[in-house]
Amino acid sequence: MAKKQNEGCAFCGSPRTNGILLQGLSANICEHCVKQAYEVLEQSARQQKQLNLDKAKLPKPVEIKEFLDQYIIGQDIAKKTLSVAVYNHYKRLMQDLDDNDVEIEKSNIIMVGATGTGKTLLAKTIAKLLEVPFTIVDATVLTEAGYVGEDIESILTRLLQASDYDVEAAERGIVFIDEIDKIARKGDNPSITRDVSGEGVQQGLLKLLEGSVVNVPPQGGRKHPDQKMIPVNTKNILFICGGAFDGIEQKIAHRLNTKVVGYAASKVNAVLDSNNLLQYVSPQDLKSFGLIPEIIGRLPMLCYLEQLDRVALRSILTEPKNSIIKQYVKMFEMDNVKLTFDEDVLEFIVDKAIEFKLGARGLRSIVETIMLDIMFDVPSSKKKSVTINLEYAQNKLQNVNADKLRA
Ligand code: ADP
Repeated sequence: MAKKQNEGCAFCGSPRTNGILLQGLSANICEHCVKQAYEVLEQSARQQKQLNLDKAKLPKPVEIKEFLDQYIIGQDIAKKTLSVAVYNHYKRLMQDLDDNDVEIEKSNIIMVGATGTGKTLLAKTIAKLLEVPFTIVDATVLTEAGYVGEDIESILTRLLQASDYDVEAAERGIVFIDEIDKIARKGDNPSITRDVSGEGVQQGLLKLLEGSVVNVPPQGGRKHPDQKMIPVNTKNILFICGGAFDGIEQKIAHRLNTKVVGYAASKVNAVLDSNNLLQYVSPQDLKSFGLIPEIIGRLPMLCYLEQLDRVALRSILTEPKNSIIKQYVKMFEMDNVKLTFDEDVLEFIVDKAIEFKLGARGLRSIVETIMLDIMFDVPSSKKKSVTINLEYAQNKLQNVNADKLRA
């Protein structure tokens, strides 16, 4: 035994004077070989993961959309776009990296649609189905490095947190960036004043979208200046961006008008649906709105979300798998109380959401206002059933103004 301890590395034969040597019962191993062994194990674990993704029955685009249909009313185009993008994302992750012929590149997505039309809901719902880490970040908090707010890298901190700091997993994840329109360039001439939350942020974001190795602070923010940065490669991270782009309809109208003057004008105008200009949104309109062309180029899949009409709002109340009304019924069930809403109450809730211009987001606050007193009283009462009728609902909303209902 004593003889063995005097020998060098049993794997590579290097002498014991060469760096750290770990001593075993009958053999020694040098630090170099330990590192190599670790890398072999890591690589094998990586391949295993790849295999898992391969073997797991990954949902096809049609199945992904069917899943989204259970939770989200309408928005077929956005659902299709997302389903295809996520499916292709999986394919890209499974591609044979040794095959140099064709490399499947990622297609990041940008969704344009008024606030409260379901962009975040789409992202959250698809996350339930995903086999990869997922995070939602808000672009409004991002500022150029050195200014108050969060650095761009904080986006990846969130993804690292979502993957329990498994860098490999994070590098295959999906990030939803909400309110991307808020980092649009504020004016046509950015050089007059510093545009710290606009073009500068877009430049920073571009690095992430393009695919590069970014040093990420694992704790995020600037509160921990001593933290050791973790390099994360964004090449395979799929980015989905969403924004309301308030006022983009004017840009679309302007583009369409200038394009259709002259000979073909009347013909083209005839088929344009001026009530829903968003359906004609093009990369050019995003540029007019203030996104830099490089960013737009990195978000090749552009889709829009429809405005929710009366019928859609009525469906949202009761149809999705976890609709607001279903949630209330369930809450009462837990107290052994059967809750029902008269049909005209549901119509009334929709009317109020439209009257106060609250959209789908307002439906919940309206229902909550109507239900507060009952929610307070019923658990202590002996009631076994409760029916909400129109008179009661009207009464509860009588003195409530729109601002109070605005979430
Ligand atoms: P956005 O991100 O577009 O501003 P959200 O996804 O946050 O809008 O929508 C707000 C809420 O409105 C959601 O949580 C959901 O309750 C409801 N909602 C909006 N659009 C839809 C939809 N198409 N189908 C079902 N519910 C919806």
